Formats: sequence, C-alpha cells, structure tokens
Amino acid sequence: MTEIRKVAVIGAGTMGNGIAHTFALGGFEVVLVDVDPAILNRAISTISTNLDRQMKKGTVTAEAAAGVLDRIHPSTSLSAGADALLWVEAATENPELKFRLFREADQIAPSETVLATNTSSISITAIAGHTHQPDRVIGMHFMNPAPLMKLVEVIRGLGTSDETVRIVTETAGQLGKVVVEASDYPGFISNRLLMLMINEAVFCLMEGVASREAIDTVMKTGMNHPMGPLELADMIGLDTCLSIMEVLHSGLGDDKYRPCPLLRKYVDAGRTGRKAGRGFYEHPTPPG
Ligand code: NAD
Repeated sequence: MTEIRKVAVIGAGTMGNGIAHTFALGGFEVVLVDVDPAILNRAISTISTNLDRQMKKGTVTAEAAAGVLDRIHPSTSLSAGADALLWVEAATENPELKFRLFREADQIAPSETVLATNTSSISITAIAGHTHQPDRVIGMHFMNPAPLMKLVEVIRGLGTSDETVRIVTETAGQLGKVVVEASDYPGFISNRLLMLMINEAVFCLMEGVASREAIDTVMKTGMNHPMGPLELADMIGLDTCLSIMEVLHSGLGDDKYRPCPLLRKYVDAGRTGRKAGRGFYEHPTPPG
C-alpha cells in the first residue's frame, strides 16, 4: 500500500499556494513548483499571512502551524517532485499547458506515483491520454480557498484505476476533507453549476439589468450565498472563469454555456480579479 509522505504541487498561483498550505498543515512535505520565482516568493508570503490569520481566528493552533513553512520546498523545476508519490497539478487552466505538463510528469515521476490535476473543467481522460499510465491520472479538485473549504471533488477519468481513487480519497480524508466522486464530463459537478450562475450574472451586468452590487446582494441576501457571483468571480479569477466557460461550451456543445462577451472583454483588458487588483470590483491590495 502506498503511503504518501511527500506531495508535489505544480503551480503556485491562487490554488497552488492554498493546496500547498493544506498539505503542509496536514503534515506532508510539499514541493511547490512554478515557472516564476516571483510567484513562488509571493506564494510563501501568502501562506504565511493566511496561517497567521488562521491562528488569530483560533482555527489552527500555534503547535499545528509550527513547521508548516519549513515543510514547503519551492522550486522552478518539475524534477524536484521526482520522489513525491502524489502530484497535484494546479497550473493555469489551459489544456495545451496541462497536456505538456502531464507528458513531462509521466517521464519524471516513478510508475507508482499518482498524477492528480486540480483542473476545474478540462477532461481528465484527455489529460491522461498524454501519459503512458492513464490508470494513475485523476482529478483532485480543491475548492477556493483550499485551506478553508471542506470539499474535494474526485474525478475518475475513463482509465483511472480503483487504487488511484482509493489513494486520493484517503489522502483527502487525512486532510480533513469531504470527498465527492464525479464522472469525467466538462465542469464535473461544481463548475457546471457554478459557472453558469457566474456567467449569467455577467450577462445581467452587461445588459444593464442591475448594478454589480445589486446582483451580488440578491444572491447574498436573497439566496443566502456567502458571496455574490461577481465577487466570487473576482476571487476565482476572471481568466479562469472564461477558460472554464469555453471548455463547457465546446465540450457540451450547447449555447447556454457561451461565455458572456463582457467577461471576455474584462479578461482582454487584464482585469482578471483580485490577483490583478481589478475585476468587477477594485482590489487595491492584491493578495500576498
Ligand atoms: P493562477 O493563474 O492563479 O495560477 C496558475 C499558476 O500556474 C501561475 O502561478 C503560473 O505561473 C503557473 N504555471 C504556468 N505554467 C506553469 C508550468 N509549466 N509549470 C509550473 N507552473 C506553471 O490559476 P489558479 O486560479 O490557481 O488555477 C490553477 C488551477 O486550479 C486551474 O486548473 C484552475 O482551473 C483550478 N482551480 C481554480 C480555482 C479558483 O478558484 N481559482 C478553483 C478550483 C480549481
């Protein structure tokens, strides 16, 4: 039986830093890989700030937090993950990029290593098709922010083995997460539902149905959602939302998934949400 002690997290952006934080807090050694050293530095400082916040709130003890940062090993090389038995890829939501990363991971990671992707919408089966061992490829979809959100959606590609599902489910359990299993269809469960709502909120804004504040207030105060759809889109990243809509649109072939032109316009303008300091709202201090 494979016992995972070390995990490689590929991509240190919005999700990657949260996933690295979650594993390190769970006692795992973590290799955190990104192409950009500045993003790695920002990820470490974000993790440190978020850990302090958890301690202040009393959700994490000082004892549990001690050693978390020491267990995270930043690197710009995928080879640094060679001895990790679980890889969680959380790089930019771009199919060609993920296919390339999995071709490389397939070469670097020994055959017993599980190769998971945190993709929000790209086919696990298609990603697995770029490896020689599709049985070890799986979706391990954390929610944002990963250290706080309890859910992990586990997605089985066409060739994913029962053993791979078991390893990922058990590992998520060790992190205190609740696992829901989904089949490999575009957007799985979470984003098929969530992104339609966000995209429709952007249409409401574009068509002048209401202001951004009014749209968000209806969903918060009227529907008891903790965040409005436009605030949430800013947190997720508008570029990520657009990529997911494109995958839903092409993968399901139904025009109800067409991305709203205003969403595309904001992305073209670089207004990608919190990480850029500006999306539907202004965010003067980007995270980290
Ligand atoms: P992001 O843009 O914040 O971060 C992506 C990171 O990947 C960047 O730091 C980038 O430098 C890095 N990267 C790009 N190419 C790389 C490579 N070859 N090797 C290593 N790193 C590379 O994106 P994100 O929001 O963190 O999304 C990451 C993944 O997580 C996507 O697949 C996305 O669909 C998924 N996801 C996002 C959310 C969310 O709320 N943002 C939630 C769940 C899942």
